[in-house]
Amino acid sequence: MNRLAVVAIAALLAFTPAQAQRRDKALEAALLAHVTELASDAYDGREPGTEGEAKTLRYLGQQWFDIGLESGTNDPRNAWFAPVKLVAREPASSSASFTRRNRPQFVPPGSTEVFTSGKRTLVNSAPILFVGKGEGEVGRAELAGRVALLLDGGTEGSERQNALLKAGAAGVLTVLDGERTLEQIRARRGRSGYALATEELGGDLEAFITAEGLERALAGGPLDFAALKALAAKPDFVPRLLDLAVTLEATTRETRINTHNVIGRLPGRRPDSGAVLLLAHWDHFGECAAPPAEDLICNGAIDNASGLAALTEIARRLAKGPALDRDVYFLATTAEEIGLLGAEAFAEDPPLPLSQIVAAFNIDSFALAPRGAPLGIVGRGLTPLDAGILAVAKAQKRKVVEGDAANAYIRRQDGWALLQHDVPTVMVSSSWSDIARVERFFETDYHRPGDQLKPGLDLSGTAEDVAFHVALVRHFGDPKKVPLRSK
Ligand SMILES: [Zn+2]
Repeated sequence: MNRLAVVAIAALLAFTPAQAQRRDKALEAALLAHVTELASDAYDGREPGTEGEAKTLRYLGQQWFDIGLESGTNDPRNAWFAPVKLVAREPASSSASFTRRNRPQFVPPGSTEVFTSGKRTLVNSAPILFVGKGEGEVGRAELAGRVALLLDGGTEGSERQNALLKAGAAGVLTVLDGERTLEQIRARRGRSGYALATEELGGDLEAFITAEGLERALAGGPLDFAALKALAAKPDFVPRLLDLAVTLEATTRETRINTHNVIGRLPGRRPDSGAVLLLAHWDHFGECAAPPAEDLICNGAIDNASGLAALTEIARRLAKGPALDRDVYFLATTAEEIGLLGAEAFAEDPPLPLSQIVAAFNIDSFALAPRGAPLGIVGRGLTPLDAGILAVAKAQKRKVVEGDAANAYIRRQDGWALLQHDVPTVMVSSSWSDIARVERFFETDYHRPGDQLKPGLDLSGTAEDVAFHVALVRHFGDPKKVPLRSK
């Protein structure tokens, strides 16, 4: 190297912009080690209730214990791992039959479909009340014990259907004479739905019939389908009781899943002064592809092994640093992918009063942006946290993108479940600063086997976001800087 080159390099170094922070290669390596482990095929896609869950819990529990965290469950019988009981439900059977004056009216098989929100629901020989498009108010007395026959209005039709059920109809039978087909309804409703086992089961009956099926049910009666539609189109339409009764039955298959949230705690010097919560979901989809595809496992490297890696390294740095006044809770949630259910379970049965949580930061899919990218805030403008976040960003020489475009993702992440319980929760990350980049991820590897560890996975942005979160928690963990929320 000649002297001139040395001078040139020295000049380059001198001109490095102030915001470029020193790259933390050791941190990037530590993050990569976690992602490599958690997104390996041995974890089989980290599906709740499987051996993949057991492995994930063991790994996180061991890491957090070694870092020096304590169990944060506040439940000696269930240290570290808070049980979350789920139910998976899928439609199992469906039947519909019609009678006029106790004589059966034949309807071709396959022209009806019945669903229940409960385990089994039967409505026996209920009179049918034709409510047209369901636009007017229908009285509770008029609906009681009856099945409302509703003309379909697409998504608005589902709203009207729900309104009729709420108003007391024994069931709602929607005639599919518009855009929606029975096949589409079956495909959409046939998938399994998940819920917390503690959730109250309804017994709502939702039934669907094709226009041809209804023609046959009405055959021989005073009004055919065309006459019903003509009635409904009149401005002075009022619901009409038909000379027709229906028996509807549906059952649901239920599978119980026992899964867990992992909760660790870094004790503060003044736990009565409140707490800061950091969370990241550990679950993913398990095997999500079917043969003949060769790779069946959704490893979830970015979604959300990267978030667990970040959460764990934030914990390590905070545990090594000077003690905070406030407790810091670390929560790895289950069942995010199937409806934010682990976060909901945490909020319904929290280890500390939720009003004690001064700020919560969710960490989901943090490995999308390289270092140097600005920060985006999912949940901007929705909590009192923005001013503090911007102050920390300024001190840390991080840019925050203007506007609230990242709020487009607010319902798609665990923070949403906590916000419903008034816990001020946001997600702050370079990953969420550029909508186009996020959308590219959604269109390619997201929720597919392609979201796996690939050579060259860039964790430099995640490393910067880890450092930023350490500063965030130090700020919000200080009662002098951020007072406890008033109740
Ligand atoms: Zn996901």
